[in-house]
Order: sequence, then C-alpha cells, then structure tokens
Amino acid sequence: MRGLFHFEATWNAVKKRFAVRRWGGPEGGDSQTVPPELLESLPVMFLPALRDAETALAPGPRSRLGCAIAYHLAGAGLNPLVLERRGIAQAATSRAAGLLTRARANPCLLPLVRQTYEDLRMLEAESGDDLGVRRTGSLYVGASEPVLRAHRELMAAAVAQGEKILRISPVEARELVRWLHLDGDEEIFFMPEDAFVDGYALGSAYARAARRKGARILEDQSDSHW
Ligand SMILES: Cc1cc2nc3c(=O)[nH]c(=O)nc-3n(C[C@H](O)[C@H](O)[C@H](O)COP(=O)(O)OP(=O)(O)OC[C@H]3O[C@@H](n4cnc5c(N)ncnc54)[C@H](O)[C@@H]3O)c2cc1C
Repeated sequence: MRGLFHFEATWNAVKKRFAVRRWGGPEGGDSQTVPPELLESLPVMFLPALRDAETALAPGPRSRLGCAIAYHLAGAGLNPLVLERRGIAQAATSRAAGLLTRARANPCLLPLVRQTYEDLRMLEAESGDDLGVRRTGSLYVGASEPVLRAHRELMAAAVAQGEKILRISPVEARELVRWLHLDGDEEIFFMPEDAFVDGYALGSAYARAARRKGARILEDQSDSHW
C-alpha cells in the first residue's frame, strides 16, 4: 500500500517564521481522506537553508546542523557548500551538554537523534577515530508535580516510539550515580541506551567526513557577500 503526503513550508517574511502545511492526496488538494492527527504525527522537520542566495545570510539562533547536512548531501553524491561566518562547531554545538537523549518532547527530533547514533557509528568506522561516545544511559529524576508531569509525558512519547525506558528506585539510581543525593521519594526513569558525546568532537567529525566526501566548507565568511 502506498500513500502520498505533502509537506510544504513557506517563509512568512512579516512574522519571520515558516508556515507549514501538510496534506494527503494529490498536489494542492486538501484531502480529508488522511486524518489530520496522522498528518500531524508524521515526524517531518524542515531545516532552513544556511543562507538565502537572493538576499543575505540570515543570522539568528535557528538550528542549522550545517556539517551534518553537508555530510549527508555529499554522501548522496551532491556537492554542498557550507559558508560558516566564524569557525566550525564553535557556537551552540560547543556549549551543548551533548546528551543524545531519545526523550524528546518534539516528535520530529527523535528520528534526528536516532540518525545521530547511526552517524556516530559511521563516522567512527569511516575515519577510525574514537569520538569519545559515552554510553552511560540517562536518568530523569523528578520530585515536584510539574517536573513529574513533564517527565511522564516525555517518557510516554518515547515508549510510544519504541524506546526502552526503565522505572527505577532511588536506591538503584544511587548505584548508578554515586554522588546523587536523593530524598527517596523521587520518581526516576532510566533510559539505558542513551549516550553523550562532546559537541565539538561530533561537529568537527561531521565536517571532516563531509569534506572527505567532497563537500566544501568555508570558514571565516563573515565578510562574504555571495
Ligand atoms: C548550554 C547548551 C546545552 C545544550 N545541551 C544539549 C544537549 O545536551 N543535547 C542536545 O541535543 N542539544 C543540546 N543543546 C542544543 C544544541 O547545542 C544545538 O541544538 C546544536 O548545537 C545546534 O547545532 P547547529 O549546528 O544548528 O548550531 P550552532 O552550533 O550554533 O551552529 C550554527 C553556526 O551557524 C553559523 N552562522 C550563524 N549565522 C550565520 C550566517 N548568517 N552566516 C554564516 N554562518 C552563520 C554560526 O557561526 C555557527 O557556527 C544545548 C545548547 C546549549 C546552548
């Protein structure tokens, strides 16, 4: 059985954000044959281009994942060009705690995280480098009502997408993390397959691998007016 789904992102210059429209069926149609809940549940994410060739490079906090995208585009046989105004992996990526958790409130992020695990395996295999991935698992410890609610929602979403989650006791948590001080009435979830990695190491590895596959990544481009 095959289905046809459309995902359309249009830049709204006034609101300065993307308006997203999803529909099932033929081009331009607003078919009611595909339930809106199904369309909304599809994990599709639009990553805006690093720059708009017709205007200027658009600065801002928007996530771009430039080197990872270049790695995949070059792997698909294209010749991507990344224009980086400063240096690779020196912005948010270098500040990240680097937790590659599969517990994501935004369902679009889980496929990206899963892909990152797959990429880590490939990046290490292709280069022979050890990227220092630490497969420790992650703990979600909650005591107050709002945190408990948020954690339960996160965990329910992850379980629904097939992720492994264990409910453990404070004593068991202390065995995993010796320095953890707990009162004993906390609710604790353990995601045993989670890992963390240094953001700079990962971003730079993407850049090296993308270059090896033919991508061009130019740094210090703040004065460029392409
Ligand atoms: C304190 C902190 C902790 C975090 N912890 C985690 C975590 O544990 N787990 C997790 O998954 N995420 C975490 N994050 C989020 C994560 O760091 C980001 O989602 C990720 O680094 C985004 O990568 P990026 O390549 O899109 O952005 P960046 O690393 O910020 O890279 C964007 C790049 O674009 C360049 N740029 C911007 N504008 C222009 C322009 N006009 N022209 C040319 N170049 C431009 C910048 O110089 C920069 O190099 C954390 C973030 C912070 C700040």
